[in-house]
This record gives sequence, C-alpha cells and structure tokens, in this order.
Amino acid sequence: MKTIGLLGGMSWESTELYYRWINQGIKKELGGLNSAKIAMVSVNFEEIEKLQHQGDWETSAQVLANAAKQIEAAGADVLLICTNTMHKVAPQVEAAINIPLLHLADATANRIKEAGLTTIGLLGTKFTMEQDFYKGRLVYKHDLNVIVPSPEDRQIVHDIIYNELCLGEVNDSSRTEYLRIVDAMRAQGAEAVIEGCTEIVMLLKQEHTDVPLFDTTAIHAEEAVKLALR
Ligand code: GLU
Repeated sequence: MKTIGLLGGMSWESTELYYRWINQGIKKELGGLNSAKIAMVSVNFEEIEKLQHQGDWETSAQVLANAAKQIEAAGADVLLICTNTMHKVAPQVEAAINIPLLHLADATANRIKEAGLTTIGLLGTKFTMEQDFYKGRLVYKHDLNVIVPSPEDRQIVHDIIYNELCLGEVNDSSRTEYLRIVDAMRAQGAEAVIEGCTEIVMLLKQEHTDVPLFDTTAIHAEEAVKLALR
C-alpha cells in the first residue's frame, strides 16, 4: 500500500473528513484492521486565510511548499492539497516536491466527464468560482461549460464558507440559501453542481436536492484510496 500525503488544516473541519473517509475506503477494500498509511501536515488556517484575503499568494505558496516537503520527507508517495482554493498555488507546491500531486480540479472534472455531463454549476470560495486556477481549468483544460452564481450570490456562498463552515457551524438558513443558489444555476442549464469547497458537504448533502452533486472532498478521498492500492 502506498502512503497518502495530506496537506491539511484548511480548514481542519474538512481535513477530518479526508482522514475518516480515506481510512474507511481502505477498510472497505481490504477489510479487517486495514487502515490507510497517511503522512499529514496540518497548517494554521488563521494564517492562510489572512494571506488569501491580503492577496499574498506568494507567502502562502511558500508555507504550503514547505509543508509539502515535510510530507514528502515523511514518506508520502502522493500529495493531496485538502482544499480547492489553495490549488491556486498548486504549481509552486508541485515544483517543490518530487512526488505527484493529485489535483482536485482534475479529479473532479474526470468524474464529471465520466458521467457524460458537459454543463456544470460551481460552488466554492470566490477565488475558486472566479479565477483561472479552478473555474478556468475546468473550462480550458477539461472543456466543461461552467456556470457560477451571480456576484451577490458568490459573496453569500463565500461568506458562509469562512464565517460558518470553516468554524464548524452548520445552519439551516445557510442551507436554504445554498439550495436557492443551486436551483438558480439549474435554471441556467447546470446538469449538476460541483461542491468546490471541501467544507460544503457538511452543509449540503445529496439528500437535500435532486440536482446531482459532485462533492470534491469525497472524490479526492476516493481517488487517493484507488491510488494507494494501485
Ligand atoms: N476548504 C475550502 C476549499 O476547499 C476553503 C478554505 C480555503 O480557503 O482553503 O476551498
């Protein structure tokens, strides 16, 4: 079994899900007392969040690149950055290590294409919903049509992530807002919606809507398990 490297803490609320789901995935495949081999470094999200909102991506890239080197030195065979947003600095992280990076946007796009879908709604932080490292990658690299919420709704989605979900708060009123926004994207032609932030699954689950959801946390964890056992 290969060792899975996790660069976590962004936020720890979702890294906890990665740890649980990867271990459950290995147990499901191998049975008994089998569990995942994991090397993890978890950063302080308060520091990362400040750098994000100051636009200081260079410093955050250094922090994550250093963490990735520690993970590689600890014996990881593959690296997962356990957040969609921080894939903004994936190129710098990748350049700092010699093990492969399992890119979250690529893993998700592959699932969508396997499902035969072409037009997809995207929820995430404003960085993820607006910028080329993520939204653009789905369009240009994977040839998907990507629908994002209106500017006002993007702000609502973004604020709920940072002010509630990353603090472990799950509110029914926020779920109602997310469902309204999902329905608006469906009305614009979205065949399914990407939960492009690793905490959204805490709030919005498939049982809450008949719009198919692609949860990036679950996809990333499942692909890591496959890779570890390959
Ligand atoms: N975990 C979130 C994501 O997947 C947001 C936290 C962050 O900004 O890293 O984008």
